[in-house]
Amino acid sequence: MKPGPTGIRSNLDEVRERIAGAAARSGRDAGQVVLVGVVKTVPPAIIGQALGLGLTDLGENRVQEADAHVAALGRAAARWHLIGHLQRNKVARAVALFDRVHALDSVELAEALSRRAVEAGRRMPVLVEVNVSGEASKFGVAPEALMGLLERAAGLPGLTLEGLMTVGAKVARAEEARPAFARLRGLRDRAGPALGRALPELSMGMSSDFEVAVEEGATLVRVGTALFGGRP
Ligand SMILES: *Cc1c(COP(=O)(O)O)cnc(C)c1O
Repeated sequence: MKPGPTGIRSNLDEVRERIAGAAARSGRDAGQVVLVGVVKTVPPAIIGQALGLGLTDLGENRVQEADAHVAALGRAAARWHLIGHLQRNKVARAVALFDRVHALDSVELAEALSRRAVEAGRRMPVLVEVNVSGEASKFGVAPEALMGLLERAAGLPGLTLEGLMTVGAKVARAEEARPAFARLRGLRDRAGPALGRALPELSMGMSSDFEVAVEEGATLVRVGTALFGGRP
């Protein structure tokens, strides 16, 4: 788990193998799972190495840090995913920087994001963040509020509603994360038909539990530490 050229290569190989193994165990095609390398606090030179080794998708949880990374590496160097909470005053910048927003969590944010996307002449792919664990410290809508937000977001011209995302509670063993991931999938499986449209994407799983997430249907796994080492 050490960064540096050889460390990054072996970490990336190992994470990819573990994703493939989890997909195989659950009868899925590993090609359905996108590895989003979470690069918060990672220096651009290290990110550049990972891109050189074939990583295609990068996750940022702050607009400001993404701005610096995009300036260093280029907007076209990767698909950029905003995985953290988005503040309303950063929406315009987010539309310029990101290919997808994972953490839509309010009607107000949906409307602001849609308006800015329309102004920019595009639609922003979005996932709604659900607070499945119910922890007060977590962002995301409560499961009970999910349909309301989905219905509003589905009608907005600047958004493409793709699916759901959750940040799991910290668990001692990966297996303990399974019920929350299964619950997110269940919410998605019911919300899609209720809404009358497919919600293909499920963003769930981090370094400590991404294999369980893949077994439960994740299409986007957000992995930082297992690729780039521990953060300061
Ligand atoms: C930091 C972060 C991750 C990655 O966490 P690791 O444990 O380092 O893999 C994933 N998702 C979100 C929302 C994050 O903020």
